[in-house]
Amino acid sequence: MQDFVYTGLAMRVVFGSGTMARLPEEVKGLGRSRALVLSTPPQAAQAEALAASLGDLAVGTFTAAAMHTPTDVTARAVAKAREVGADCTVAVGGGSTTGLGKAIALATDLDQIVVPTTYAGSEMTPILGQTEGGLKTTQRSPKILPEVVLYDVDLTLTLPAGLTATSGMNAIAHAVEALYAQDRNPIVSLMAEEGIAALARALPRLVAAADDREARSDALYGAWLCGLCLGSVGMALHHKLCHTLGGSFDLPHAETHTVVLPYATAYNAPAAPDAMARIARALGSTDAATGLWDLAGRLGAPRSLHALGLPESALDRAADLATANPYWNPRPIERDAIRSLLAQAWAGDVPRGAEPCAAA
Ligand code: NAD
Repeated sequence: MQDFVYTGLAMRVVFGSGTMARLPEEVKGLGRSRALVLSTPPQAAQAEALAASLGDLAVGTFTAAAMHTPTDVTARAVAKAREVGADCTVAVGGGSTTGLGKAIALATDLDQIVVPTTYAGSEMTPILGQTEGGLKTTQRSPKILPEVVLYDVDLTLTLPAGLTATSGMNAIAHAVEALYAQDRNPIVSLMAEEGIAALARALPRLVAAADDREARSDALYGAWLCGLCLGSVGMALHHKLCHTLGGSFDLPHAETHTVVLPYATAYNAPAAPDAMARIARALGSTDAATGLWDLAGRLGAPRSLHALGLPESALDRAADLATANPYWNPRPIERDAIRSLLAQAWAGDVPRGAEPCAAA
């Protein structure tokens, strides 16, 4: 028998195809009537269209959301929200736009509706990562958790194949670490295994045909479950490595998760056999780490830190940073072993401890 604590996250989720049409009633359902619509610059046209569809319920757009939520962008967005008298935000986009909505909520207490268009999963967490002067800090607060998440499969049809693959692997990473989290529990583990399986089924189909609506639905469902894992239990070595590589070496978020995940999994394999068995089962593989590495290969995703532009000379510093103030991890964090993990990830070798097997 396993004792555990499960804390549910209070939010409303609407999932389906064409669900954007329900946005006006969701705004009204919150008792709000003055929405500020948020996006990144490339998704500005989508934000404008969405604001137009809200009619009188929208009071403007702010389309300058940026990766890692820079605080100067947030300050401009908060000023805009105040200027137009917004009483809620609608964030349409990936983790960057969701991050901006969360930062505005933290500063102003405005309600948030999030309309995710990637698989990053930020919409399911009470966590905000933001950057100031090149330094990334993370905080957790109930104020940060969105009130409503509206998943519309149709909005993910435009996600390019490359981002589909890496964003999907980013989602899988949340579920992998949830399965061996210190505070894991049977409910979150169910979601984790189901989330990995749904994404592992869907992603290869989407790389072949980006407009496969059934696979898009499976992928978004999987991403939701994986995001819930991220919001519900603590993350470990893999997320620490990615935060280090993203924060200190400016590597791209989803791609870094994709490259590092098989190696972090191989590192933890001896200390978390039950989690490994569940990950392998969800992937339809005999080995968790190799299964993840094979999946990334089949998706044509990057599989080495070298390919992401990290110089080999950065590995020592990366190992130092990743082992300073480590997150809890099932296997103790040893600096030399982490340096060796990073060297493997840099070269894109088969994750150690696993036999090479067919990969595209
Ligand atoms: P992103 O939000 O930066 O999006 C990447 C690019 O893809 C952007 O230009 C965006 O406009 C575009 N895009 C998004 N959806 C699209 C679509 N359907 N079609 C075409 N283009 C589309 O990337 P991301 O990977 O979703 O998010 C990464 C950010 O989210 C990072 O800053 C990361 O730290 C953060 N994040 C935070 C949490 C959390 O819990 N706080 C969780 C996961 C990620």
